Amino acid sequence: MRQTQFLIPTLKEDPADADVASHRLMLRSGLIRQLASGLYTWLPLGVRVLRRIEKVIREELNLSGAQEVLMPVVQPAELWRESKRWDKMGPEMMRMQDRHQRDFCLGPTHEEVITDLFRREIQSYRQLPVNFYQIQTKFRDEVRPRFGVMRAREFTMKDGYSFHLDQASFDETYKEMHDCYSRILTRLQLDFRAVDADTGNIGGSNSHEFHVLTNAGEDTIAFATQGSYAANLEKAVAAPPAPRPAARSSLTKVPTPGQTTIEQVARHLNSSEKQCVKTLIVKSDDEDKPLIALVLRGDHELNTIKAQKLEGVHNPLEFADPAQIKASIGCDVGSIGPVGLDMKVLVDPEAAALADFICGANEDGYHTSGVNWVRDVALDDANIRDMRNVVPGDPAPDGQGSLDFLRGIEVGHIFQLGTVYSEPMQASVLNENGRSVAPIMGCYGMGVTRLVAAVIEQNHDDQGICWPRPVAPFQVHILALNYAKSDPVRTAADTLLDACNKNGIEALLDDRPERPGVKFADADLIGLPFRLTIGDRGLAEGNVEFKVGRDANQVIPVDNVMSVLMDALSA
Ligand code: ATP
Ligand code: MG
Repeated sequence: MRQTQFLIPTLKEDPADADVASHRLMLRSGLIRQLASGLYTWLPLGVRVLRRIEKVIREELNLSGAQEVLMPVVQPAELWRESKRWDKMGPEMMRMQDRHQRDFCLGPTHEEVITDLFRREIQSYRQLPVNFYQIQTKFRDEVRPRFGVMRAREFTMKDGYSFHLDQASFDETYKEMHDCYSRILTRLQLDFRAVDADTGNIGGSNSHEFHVLTNAGEDTIAFATQGSYAANLEKAVAAPPAPRPAARSSLTKVPTPGQTTIEQVARHLNSSEKQCVKTLIVKSDDEDKPLIALVLRGDHELNTIKAQKLEGVHNPLEFADPAQIKASIGCDVGSIGPVGLDMKVLVDPEAAALADFICGANEDGYHTSGVNWVRDVALDDANIRDMRNVVPGDPAPDGQGSLDFLRGIEVGHIFQLGTVYSEPMQASVLNENGRSVAPIMGCYGMGVTRLVAAVIEQNHDDQGICWPRPVAPFQVHILALNYAKSDPVRTAADTLLDACNKNGIEALLDDRPERPGVKFADADLIGLPFRLTIGDRGLAEGNVEFKVGRDANQVIPVDNVMSVLMDALSA
């Protein structure tokens, strides 16, 4: 391919609104352009990268026995009403009407469509298990599209769905998909980790996420420093605390004028944040008892994903507003405590393990010290519920060392769905005994466009992208210096390009009438795995320069170029 015939609009300067390296470099190296918030056009170089990633994904999935289908982006609302998700999905799902005022959405995911396909086309247990996948556009009207294609509104996902007669068959496929995802990410040369995860809007129980490890990741992963435990912070748990010590102090109301944060109160009372509890008031699902109190140890943070799954708590989580708190409790947010609180109180295990603790007195300007569960506040075991974010240093839940944190980009997510779609949508097959049963489903997502950003996060330096060979848009960059004016350079460069094409080596020839400095800077930015530099001076001595990645140039005889290149490519 000749660069004069291939659009690569590189940018010299960093774009202003790109916060992470991958976004900056994708814009600067001419892979993508933004159309509107969260919407991107893929330029020719970017498309080549996408196609390479898709190829790896397809090869591995086909090998694992999955079948490729292609479902529509536009989906009828009826299907989503059947699964009860039409209302549940919220504003992330883009809805619209056709000319007959029928409701449709832009598919944020395809469980409903595949379940509909299944119920129409598959009737017998003999046809199971089946595993379908597609590589298709998804639309999610994300609250905060950011980091370029990492969190876009329109993006490409590989999504897959499997159907099984029994759990054993599902388990086998789930494991195969887990292995398949590991093979794909290994082939893409990514440093990744599979972790336990929350199931989110998709529903179902068990799930694993695959994270590409990088500081630019949006997700925090908690992992055991010694054992194998690893989970998304959204879901991570620590080992239970030691049993609660016996009460020693008596309940005392203490003035804390103007002290409203845990930090201020702890300092004011010469105590520590760990000896305080914080009480957060959230909205419930019950109109008669609209508020629920969540109690955490003072130094811990609420995990909203865990909290909104607690029984009675409104999902999505909503905090009570200050006016509502004042009206029902009689104080400001900074003075709430569980003693005498007239509402359901749920307590995190670490807060429940405290004795002689400090909390708000439900009266502005006062706190209570020497508080003890049971003696001063009723506490039922059923109300002790994990709701906090683990912190580094917490003991791992399996007792294998302590937890530490890593940052990751979620590139894949595999779920056990059970029958949450097959039952309400009445997908069924006849089993060996002629009885109708709902198939157990699994679903398997992988962010194809997000993977491009993840690869770049792990493979770049100050000068630009350093493409790993399995993903690179071209393998070889031929820089022809003075191509327009020098006959020997032009002849040598054209001959090399020709030889590459004939040998199936994907090469990009910089034949632009640009200064050498511009060509070098662009080549560094685009970052192809191998580079050949052809200039008048070297050619006069029968040589060209060969460069592997960011290594130093090697001078090689022009006659040896193809054999050197072929060796390097087969290494
Ligand atoms: P996230 O927690 O990042 O929002 P999710 O749990 O909503 O992800 P899934 O529904 O499991 O994601 O989608 C499967 C895969 O699709 C994800 O693992 C991710 O790689 C990709 N993906 C999801 N949302 C986006 C997005 N807005 N932009 C790009 N890729 C995305
Ligand atoms: Mg999401």
